[in-house]
Amino acid sequence: MVTRRPNTVIAISLALAGVIFAISLWVLLEMRKDALRRAQESAFNVSLLVERDTARNLEVYDLSLQAVIEGLQQPGVMELPPAIRQMVLFDRSATAKDLGSLLVINAAGNVIIDSQAVPPRGLNISGRDYFRVHRDSANVGLYISKPFVPPFSGESASIALSRRLSNPDGSFAGVVAGTMRLSYFRRLFEGMNLGEGGSMALMLADGTMLMRRPFDEKIIGRNLQGTANYTRFTQSPSGDFFGTAAIDGVPRWYAFRHIAGFPMILDVAIATRDIYAEWRHRAWILGSLMAAVDVALVTLAVLFSQQLRRRMEAEEELRMLARTDGLTGLHNRRAFEEIVETEWRRAQRTGRPLSMLMLDVDNFKGFNDLYGHSAGDDALVAVARCIAGKARRPGDSAVRYGGEEFIVLLPNTGEAGAARIAESIRAAVQALQMRHVAGAHHVLTISIGIASTEKQRFGTCRAMINAADTALYEAKDTGRNRVSAWPVGARVEERAVAEQPDG
Ligand code: GH3
Ligand code: MG
Ligand code: MG
Repeated sequence: MVTRRPNTVIAISLALAGVIFAISLWVLLEMRKDALRRAQESAFNVSLLVERDTARNLEVYDLSLQAVIEGLQQPGVMELPPAIRQMVLFDRSATAKDLGSLLVINAAGNVIIDSQAVPPRGLNISGRDYFRVHRDSANVGLYISKPFVPPFSGESASIALSRRLSNPDGSFAGVVAGTMRLSYFRRLFEGMNLGEGGSMALMLADGTMLMRRPFDEKIIGRNLQGTANYTRFTQSPSGDFFGTAAIDGVPRWYAFRHIAGFPMILDVAIATRDIYAEWRHRAWILGSLMAAVDVALVTLAVLFSQQLRRRMEAEEELRMLARTDGLTGLHNRRAFEEIVETEWRRAQRTGRPLSMLMLDVDNFKGFNDLYGHSAGDDALVAVARCIAGKARRPGDSAVRYGGEEFIVLLPNTGEAGAARIAESIRAAVQALQMRHVAGAHHVLTISIGIASTEKQRFGTCRAMINAADTALYEAKDTGRNRVSAWPVGARVEERAVAEQPDG
């Protein structure tokens, strides 16, 4: 009982701490989800932007190729003076920054018209993929080549877009090709905000790498077929996933899309550590604060419950002291009033017998006079010890009723049992052999009166106390150092005691 409330304080604080912990955890998880959501949106937006830009440029470039083809089909174009012919065939878009040369190549692979040079630079490109593919098949349409470094001095890695030239009978007449510098994509990629660990890559549909950020020359042209990420890129027109780059092993969130209308795949990836960097920082702060609050809460609760427990223990001790006789350690009269009420009502309720012993030290006034008050006190303590030693079943109560008078309350005990205990107490006191020269036996003795509800009916517990008192006086009257039971005259214990005048 004493500890239950302090423990409740701790339990409530622990529950509160748990709630705070759960709420913090929930908030942190939500913040983490938000961080991922922002990264997803950003990767998606960047990939869309780059795809649009790339598709638009390729489209414009393809239109230039088609314009050249249409121009070549006009009768007489080949007969025009070279300078005029250049103007007819190549519009200004062909001179845009990242576009290289537009070339017209004949069936043998020789460049016959060159947007950059009149007369054309003497080149044969019959070995190039963007030439061979059209020579070998009539219906390739627009072809985008693998990356290569053009033989012209000062050119950087490029790809070529090419379309077939056919004779009126459908036979191969050559190709129109335009080169495009990969630096265009490099600049495009570098203009995007992707965080420190972000990456972007543009590849041909067959997995050939065209450009990657972070830029590394060695990666261009490498084939990604067989890597986990490339496999996922080929499975749908667009999508996103967590993956790890085969090239650098960094885990990232990937958003990829196929460039609309062109055999190319673009991926945009944000490093996982960038996605959660800010979140991690905040999680540390919030987590530490919440942990501190939790610890403070529980600590305060523990301190408070300790104080509470100490106070309750002190109160309990005071209560005990208020109910205990200071000299003998037995219950005092105040405690007796409570106990006898309770036991009386319990006996009434259950019908079980309740017995009461009333004890009084014989000729105690004389003992005090002879040996002094202090020795009298010691004698009372010794008598109390005898009483407590004999009334020791649970529920038995030994009481100092006042002065040198004691009461023993014996619940669930009949008259015979009470008489047995009374006799054993009386004998124990006599056996102490405390000298009392004025006593009848020359040692200290006590007399005991018994009242029991087993065979007698008492209207109130007060009547029962009076009955025990009457029995005690009967014992005094009939010689002391003896036990009498109410109703007087029916003596429970008779001892052959020589009647001797006191003193
Ligand atoms: P009886 O055999 O008839 O009981 O004779 P008695 O002398 O014991 O008579 P009574 O019971 O009237 O005497 C009570 C005496 O007990 C009075 C007082 O001197 C003594 N007494 C009561 N309380 C204390 C106590 O706390 N300490 C001491 N030392 N003596 C006490
Ligand atoms: Mg007395
Ligand atoms: Mg007395």
